[in-house]
Amino acid sequence: MGKQVFLLGRGVDGPFKIEAEGVSKRHALVTITTDDATGETQWEIKDLGSTNGTFIRDDATGEMRRVSEDKITPETFIRLGPQDVRGITFYACHLLSPDNYDTEFNLLGGIVSRFRKELDREETKTQMRNLVTPILYLFVIIVSFMPFEKFGITGNGDSAKAEAWLLRVPMMLGGLIGFLLAMYNKKKVITKRYESMRCCPNPGCNHTLSEAEIEMRQCSRCKAH
Ligand SMILES: [Zn+2]
Repeated sequence: MGKQVFLLGRGVDGPFKIEAEGVSKRHALVTITTDDATGETQWEIKDLGSTNGTFIRDDATGEMRRVSEDKITPETFIRLGPQDVRGITFYACHLLSPDNYDTEFNLLGGIVSRFRKELDREETKTQMRNLVTPILYLFVIIVSFMPFEKFGITGNGDSAKAEAWLLRVPMMLGGLIGFLLAMYNKKKVITKRYESMRCCPNPGCNHTLSEAEIEMRQCSRCKAH
């Protein structure tokens, strides 16, 4: 078993210099254990009781989750400290190749194509919804204008009024649900998550890369490539 240990913090010499003020002097430990026989590696991260925490990203949801000790992979996106200029973010693989961002731009390229597919799928769904929603509304409107005799409700008594409302209320609810469905825009949610995941791989840069920058494999702000 081979073991590589990376101590990360503002007060230690690591694979990259951490100067962010939200990072503790001794912040976190990343351990890579290599199985000598198979060559397989196991990555782990451990928070060393840092003030502002250690976070890893769930790539399915884009959410950053605070961890004390957890298994990671070379592709894991890590944040030490708060989510602003006082913290730093990087991909775990950067510890092994701190001189370039080749692996990171490959990962970012993967993120771009994954999100394009997801947005395309959502686009198709939105088109379907744009077709269905007006029809639903039209139906509700037509039905609510029908004389109540058509539903078998006759007379003007209180019971007839109550029966009428029994029909009108579900109609209104149907209309309301249709309206909310039309308003809920999942594409916006996806786009926001997508933006947060296009963060520059250079620790401390915090720039949101455009698709063009990812394609060019270079950050326009810090020139990382
Ligand atoms: Zn950058």
